Amino acid sequence: MSLRPGVGLLLVAALTAGCAGDPGGAPAAPAAPAAPAAPPATASGEASSPADATPSHADDPDRRPLDGAVIVLDPGHQLGNRRHGAEIGAPVDAGGFTKECNTTGTATGTGYPEATFTWQVAVATRRMLRRLGARVVMTRQRNSDADWGPCVDERGRLGNPGGPGPRADAKISIHADGSYAGGAVGFHVIRPGDLPGWTDDVEADSARLATVLRDALVARGFAPSTYRGEAGIDVRTDLGTLNHSDVPVVMAELGNMRDPGEAAVMESRQGRQRYARALADAVRAYLGG
Ligand SMILES: [Zn+2]
Repeated sequence: MSLRPGVGLLLVAALTAGCAGDPGGAPAAPAAPAAPAAPPATASGEASSPADATPSHADDPDRRPLDGAVIVLDPGHQLGNRRHGAEIGAPVDAGGFTKECNTTGTATGTGYPEATFTWQVAVATRRMLRRLGARVVMTRQRNSDADWGPCVDERGRLGNPGGPGPRADAKISIHADGSYAGGAVGFHVIRPGDLPGWTDDVEADSARLATVLRDALVARGFAPSTYRGEAGIDVRTDLGTLNHSDVPVVMAELGNMRDPGEAAVMESRQGRQRYARALADAVRAYLGG
């Protein structure tokens, strides 16, 4: 089935722009690689104090590390966005300014779409987090060429207090970048910057989540970006997914899909499992589980 000309143009434009709708500008100087993180602490060395007035669950063999935790995973884009140009191009509020509802996302050189990559990583991460006891809420329920959305504002609000679903303890938006710049490789974690009235409530906790996730990715063998942010962390105030969140949130650009080496990792099941393990490690480290 052939694409309509307009759809093709839209796809090319989105691929060129990069998945997060980056406004462009000169690439940042290569960031120094971060030092490998120490292995996550375990609860095995902790002894409950006899002075504790409340009963401890530390000795409960059925208790899992993330019991009671709620995590929102946001698998970036939807496979069918490319077939719904009008819908995903409609403006929505992105934090006191308007932005397109969504974009198509990017793809590897062999055509493996970002939407499919983020979906598969999210599903693998969900499986791991559930095994640890967490309740996982996703911003989309399938990876379908017939579907589009949700828009960035809806993605950003899911998990907020007072919303239709449970309040999340943390939210991770999963993406991959599409930079054609020479030597552009590696992941970067985007955290919300200071946007008064929007991000004040979550900026500090999100910064800690970003650091923990960066360290977890490094510990799993992934290299920080050579072209974006500093030591694998970038700060932005132009992303609706981050600005609309009232719970600690980060956006993980797990790598550059246009780099053939990184694309091969993303296209492999083993590679996606390794990304998922890093994400699950980070949630556990962040929540102290
Ligand atoms: Zn993206």
